[in-house]
Amino acid sequence: MFYKVLNIRSLSPSTYILRLERKKINFKPGQCFNIGLKASGINREYSIYSGINEPYLEFLIKEVQRGSVSSALRKANPGEEVDLHGPYGSFVVSPDEAKHNLFTFIATGTGIAPFHSFIRTYPNIDYRIINGIRTAKEQYDYGHYNSSRLTTCISRDDYWNGFKGRVTDYLKTINIDSTHIYFLCGNQNMIQESYELLRVKGVSGNQIFTEAFF
Ligand SMILES: Cc1cc2nc3c(=O)[nH]c(=O)nc-3n(C[C@H](O)[C@H](O)[C@H](O)COP(=O)(O)OP(=O)(O)OC[C@H]3O[C@@H](n4cnc5c(N)ncnc54)[C@H](O)[C@@H]3O)c2cc1C
Repeated sequence: MFYKVLNIRSLSPSTYILRLERKKINFKPGQCFNIGLKASGINREYSIYSGINEPYLEFLIKEVQRGSVSSALRKANPGEEVDLHGPYGSFVVSPDEAKHNLFTFIATGTGIAPFHSFIRTYPNIDYRIINGIRTAKEQYDYGHYNSSRLTTCISRDDYWNGFKGRVTDYLKTINIDSTHIYFLCGNQNMIQESYELLRVKGVSGNQIFTEAFF
């Protein structure tokens, strides 16, 4: 199915938000879609960034060096159509789960996208986010999160006053609440290491959900 590009919002030289028309498509927050340029025959998976009540579809995309789809989509013009299929996947939070659980969301890079979708969809969800980024410039749309619920771990910025290091370094330093539901998204090495750390600290495997981007 073809969907018109409404806007490309640049967040940094490497990262942007792709906004598409919504038409009548339904999805669950956190699901992903396959997106590619019309007639290119190549598409990639992107997690939804917007909430289920927003009148458009948004995706937070990092332009990967020498990547084909992530750089091609950035060059799309408003009004141009892209090929979109989906939604897919079960990395989701239902309305009932959002009401009755405490959540910890752990992300690296654009892995924060599905968590943004959860928070836009469920404004009252009880969450904390641990976000791993390389430099302070990657704090995208931070105004959309409750700052008291957000911890940023920065691995390559000497001037950062917060936690310096990776998400996994941070997890080693804190008490882990084994009653939380944990969602892990982004780089697969981070996911694997975080999963093991959470298990060692007493979190049951059925309270941990993962989505690896690469
Ligand atoms: C379920 C799922 C959801 C995803 N959601 C998102 C999303 O919301 N936002 C997003 O930006 N990406 C997301 N991705 C990654 C995305 O599907 C593509 O892999 C990425 O955009 C690169 O595609 P490309 O065609 O530009 O590069 P390609 O030509 O396919 O790949 C180039 C190389 O870059 C590597 N690579 C892929 N992603 C990254 C990355 N983020 N950082 C560094 N290297 C990478 C690949 O392993 C490959 O070696 C998701 C992946 C999956 C499986």
